[in-house]
Amino acid sequence: MGAWLESLSLPALLGVVALAFVGLALASSALGFLGERLLRRRRIWDVALEPGQYRFELVGNLKYLAVHIPMATAFLGFGWLRFGDGSGLATFAGMYLGFQLYYYFLHRALHHRALVRFHRWHHRSRVTTPLTGLSMGFVEALGYAVGFYVLPAALSQLGAAPWLAFDGWLAYMVFNNFGNIVGHGNFELGSPITRSRVVAIFQPPFVFHALHHARWVGHFGFASAGYDALFGTEFADWRELHRRVYAGSPLPYLKFRGGAASRDA
Ligand SMILES: [Zn+2]
Ligand SMILES: [Zn+2]
Repeated sequence: MGAWLESLSLPALLGVVALAFVGLALASSALGFLGERLLRRRRIWDVALEPGQYRFELVGNLKYLAVHIPMATAFLGFGWLRFGDGSGLATFAGMYLGFQLYYYFLHRALHHRALVRFHRWHHRSRVTTPLTGLSMGFVEALGYAVGFYVLPAALSQLGAAPWLAFDGWLAYMVFNNFGNIVGHGNFELGSPITRSRVVAIFQPPFVFHALHHARWVGHFGFASAGYDALFGTEFADWRELHRRVYAGSPLPYLKFRGGAASRDA
């Protein structure tokens, strides 16, 4: 871990972590709303938000922060996340691939009848906004925490992650939180390249997850369409709908579907 952070007392570390999480959430949300303004011609849904949506999303963001600020502080401050001098790039890649795999199964599990009550808060947003990404209940926020801190810490304590470098882990945390916030904006940033089979494994367009909020029953990946393709939870029409949104025609209602043959990129 950075020498400067290691020199901090626990309360000071808590302050730094809180500033980092809140600052990142504010800056990313501002960029997301700016994207919605500047890319009006690439609006995904031409559907109104729920009454009071920003308000309940804001409360959901506070729940997320209330879980993650103390947890990140504890895992850093008590040395549970044991960083070595591995490559930052390898750490970023490991976190990126590992978290997506974990998230796919966490998210699928959260849609199981027994657990869906813990995921309903996130799905109160049917049309998503930059405030949707971190809007969730405490249990779902804890699920994220397992992927961000608990699993990497367990691997590092077992000596199974000698590649875990602080800068790579930090870069991934910034990337994930930023991507989650901006990627829930009601606008399409993803170009036609992002609907190609290979690129969508690593970065599908925004419409991919927007359809999950509208339909619930598929697209459990967020930053990867690969696991949905692999496990048969991919909607056949998402590429067609991306083509439509990208061409400037938003989707007119939440049950809107594309035509039949839409499996081609
Ligand atoms: Zn979502
Ligand atoms: Zn869901």
